[in-house]
Amino acid sequence: MFNQAESFPTLQVLLYQGLKKITVVEMLKTIGQDIGPSTRWTIRQDLARHSVKTLTSANAKEITAEGVIIDREGNEILIRGNTVVIATGTRAVNDLYERLKERVPEIFLIGDAKAPRKALEAVAEGLAVGRTV
Ligand SMILES: Cc1cc2nc3c(=O)[nH]c(=O)nc-3n(C[C@H](O)[C@H](O)[C@H](O)COP(=O)(O)OP(=O)(O)OC[C@H]3O[C@@H](n4cnc5c(N)ncnc54)[C@H](O)[C@@H]3O)c2cc1C
Repeated sequence: MFNQAESFPTLQVLLYQGLKKITVVEMLKTIGQDIGPSTRWTIRQDLARHSVKTLTSANAKEITAEGVIIDREGNEILIRGNTVVIATGTRAVNDLYERLKERVPEIFLIGDAKAPRKALEAVAEGLAVGRTV
């Protein structure tokens, strides 16, 4: 009989913990504000399960060779790290629309080019426009 296997709780830690320490920096008061309430809790549960630290009300100020400097309630804090993933939001890119709108008789601006949102809105706007032409 093989009796040197790790226990289930140890396996769970090894499975979920990973090798990296991760910190999510969020300038808002809570994380995942734009995630629907029916799924937000699952994301939060995963973050906890993977031991991801979250810092809310924290403004990223600078990325240095040592990590990321944040401002949290007036205090400057260095979060040491060797990998930084920037996910700071989106903005519409619609310069093509702006350039074409005076040159063609009919043009529609839809989806993320109108305003960055979700796939559902982009598909719905595409459908709505498609039904009018
Ligand atoms: C990381 C990430 C995760 C996301 N997760 C989700 C999610 O879980 N659920 C959800 O609903 N939404 C999600 N979204 C948002 C979703 O992807 C967008 O809302 C959706 O793709 C918008 O569709 P769109 O057709 O307006 O634009 P896009 O999907 O961006 O399509 C525009 C297309 O136009 C092409 N294009 C650009 N310029 C030109 C040009 N000059 N000539 C020809 N082609 C051009 C681009 O290459 C691109 O293929 C996510 C977005 C990102 C960035």
